[in-house]
Amino acid sequence: MATLTQLSAAVREKYGPVIGLEVHVQLLTATKIFCGCSTAFGAPPNTNVCPVCLGLPGALPVLNRKAAEFAVLAAQALNCQVRETSIFARKNYFYPDLPKGYQISQYDRPLAEHGYIEIAAGSGRKRIGITRLHLEEDAGKSLHEGFLDSATNSYIDLNRSGVPLIEIVSEPDMRSPDEAYEYLTLLKEIILYTGVSDCNMEEGSLRCDANISVRPKGQERFGTKTEIKNVNSFRFIREALEYEIERQIEAIEGGGRIEQETRLYNPAEGKTFGMRSKEQAHDYRYFPEPDLLPLVVDANWQAEIRRMLPELPETRRSRMVAQYGITEYDASVLTANKSLADQFEEAAKAAKNAKRVANLVQSELVGRLKAKGLDIEKSPISMKGVAMSADLLEANAISSKMLKDLYDKAFVAGEDFPAVYEREKPQQITDSTTIEKIIDEVIAANPKQLEQYRAGKTTVIGFFVGQVMKASKGQANPGMVNELLRKKLQ
Ligand SMILES: [Zn+2]
Repeated sequence: MATLTQLSAAVREKYGPVIGLEVHVQLLTATKIFCGCSTAFGAPPNTNVCPVCLGLPGALPVLNRKAAEFAVLAAQALNCQVRETSIFARKNYFYPDLPKGYQISQYDRPLAEHGYIEIAAGSGRKRIGITRLHLEEDAGKSLHEGFLDSATNSYIDLNRSGVPLIEIVSEPDMRSPDEAYEYLTLLKEIILYTGVSDCNMEEGSLRCDANISVRPKGQERFGTKTEIKNVNSFRFIREALEYEIERQIEAIEGGGRIEQETRLYNPAEGKTFGMRSKEQAHDYRYFPEPDLLPLVVDANWQAEIRRMLPELPETRRSRMVAQYGITEYDASVLTANKSLADQFEEAAKAAKNAKRVANLVQSELVGRLKAKGLDIEKSPISMKGVAMSADLLEANAISSKMLKDLYDKAFVAGEDFPAVYEREKPQQITDSTTIEKIIDEVIAANPKQLEQYRAGKTTVIGFFVGQVMKASKGQANPGMVNELLRKKLQ
């Protein structure tokens, strides 16, 4: 990442950043928020449109009940208070991909407020407040590249116009780019668990804007903030914030002042650039949307939705730590997404020793996945496969060396563990007479090492174990080899 190198650590230390985040999440409804058009991604341009989402005169919006339900579910998962009566409002601005000339959003009476999530911070947890969560429609998409005449023309695709979004606004509670990163990661995880969005950043289902200011340490009042818009990965947001902190400190130290403005981040250069001066709320001339009734989500409906709320990641992690005797770290890997956690729990419950299943995921699976650059969901070895291997190990039917070989083979072939095991059927020698016979041969062939061992150099046992394993083609049970060798060498 590019930084402004002039800034010394001592100067940097004088300031602290204040960060707040606005996250837009696309809801996973089949149809748009105010009309029956499909929300499917990737349809030919301007095919999922109708008079309502094209903003034609006289067309009237009708709220999608599912969108409201999903928004409430997300609000509950984020510990928000859901307002019984919320109001849609028109946010007026001109943009080519906004045919109505206004966006239907919520303003002074949003759907939900006063929520929070708790991120990991240092060795403890830190509560990040959620100011509000409201429903709104998405705008269309302007296409500035990819056409022969892109140098002179822009194109507009209105398929996205009217797709349901929730906007989640945090309190300015974050004090470092790392905290912002943690917040986004956890927020995404929670939303994914609720199933209201796929949070696919490449397809724009999750977008984030960051507000950031710096102030001298010890000062209560916030500094002037800038907004970084349209950053398309959490890593880039962290980088953009790191850059922006340095830029602001340098400006202040140089006697300048921070302009309240919207900036864009260029990942290739690792820098943010001013785009436009930031609008104030009054610039949008919000007023209640006259074409829509207030949204009423009464206590009954709220309770009904709350029953759909799944066990959320944090709770699930604590429970799994207690239930399976695994570490916090294991639990966090295994709960990275809901489907993985479900698969793990199903496999762990079926296996003889749940902790061993978790350990194998950690010690044998994760490293191989990393080496191949695969997400755990793309693993050739399923959780069921891991559970089967754990049982074989538990029953002493295979050694850990055999297990490693089978895992290697599964990764090379792209096959699950049971298939590889059935084909390879490695046989472990657990018959002590056979093992003793091999040991006798090995000892007889290595009198020098035997002498060393008996003279007190007991570490030579490692050499003997290696020789016996080699002579048995890796099939002797290592535990038995160790035990029997010790006896024989005495
Ligand atoms: Zn439509």
